[in-house]
Amino acid sequence: MNSEFIKIGKFQKTINNSITQCLTCEHRCKISDGNVGICRTRKNINGEIFTTVYGKISSLSYNPIEKKPFFHFHPGTTAITIGTFSCNFDCFWCQNWDISKQNPDNFNSKNLFISPEELIKLAKSRLSEGTSISFNEPTLLFEYSLEVFKLAKKEGLYNTYVTNGYMTEKVLRSLAENGLDALNIDIKGNQEFVKKYCKVDVEKVWRNAKLAKDLGMHIEITTLVIPGMNSDHNTFKEIAERINRDLGNETPWHINRFLPAYKSLEYGASKKTPLKVLESAYEIGKKVGLNYVYVGNVPSHKYENTYCPNCGKMVIKRYIFDINKLNLTKDGKCANCNYDLKIKL
Ligand code: SF4
Ligand code: SF4
Repeated sequence: MNSEFIKIGKFQKTINNSITQCLTCEHRCKISDGNVGICRTRKNINGEIFTTVYGKISSLSYNPIEKKPFFHFHPGTTAITIGTFSCNFDCFWCQNWDISKQNPDNFNSKNLFISPEELIKLAKSRLSEGTSISFNEPTLLFEYSLEVFKLAKKEGLYNTYVTNGYMTEKVLRSLAENGLDALNIDIKGNQEFVKKYCKVDVEKVWRNAKLAKDLGMHIEITTLVIPGMNSDHNTFKEIAERINRDLGNETPWHINRFLPAYKSLEYGASKKTPLKVLESAYEIGKKVGLNYVYVGNVPSHKYENTYCPNCGKMVIKRYIFDINKLNLTKDGKCANCNYDLKIKL
């Protein structure tokens, strides 16, 4: 393997002579010498945990920030967007399965390596206003992110994660200290759903969402609605109430249409989400008191737009990733009634 990809893991704990624990995400894998953890990106080499995907970039593109989705964070800007291989979750519906289900060891061409310095140069050469680590789980690029984020900050760029939110607290705090500005966090369903299909504890994700908010980072929440699985009234109500209580009613909630991908058919999820289900989630979110609920993956739907919670005027009109700041002042207020929408510009 090319040595560029191998870097010592920042957070780990020796358990005994042959086992070391990785403290990057809440799986907290105890890894014996020569083996890898659940995500296959961390390896115990002679008693120490190393990441094997430092700078190993599977995909790179320049995307509108709306694509993440971030709707209240620098709308209309472009972020250089990267990911690596594999994942620490095994969602059967994964839309990015072509990279998230790959064993990183199978991709060792040194052509895949992009140093943090090169990445920031690329960002600037294409006039990106920020960075986004996305596609698969960004936490797997944790050590790399820290270097990228520090350099990005020096150049006046913002930094974002599109994440399943399963990092440890230490990792989240370290990301905040080193320049992570915003997270879009997936809340994939209720405790039972997430336990059954992702084999993780969604409480840890909620904990991180709240912590990220308390640390001053911008948060948006996304739920992919899989019909018949996480699409019931109680799930929507529970998620909406929790966003309202823990993160505040100004937090955008994206309710996204599911399209079958990866192993969806095997699990009986063969249909896209009916519009009326997405709209019912929207209504529940609004009824609970959330100011900004969005229906995603449905181009030109009226709930793709931002409306002023005070006067009801359309403030930002969207079509897929195109936006028109119809009634938004330069300081993020409604041009009609002066209500502060707290949109970061
Ligand atoms: S990052 Fe998470 S899944 Fe991967 S080895 Fe570490 S604790 Fe395990
Ligand atoms: S967490 Fe995201 S990238 Fe990972 S398997 Fe699930 S949907 Fe795919």
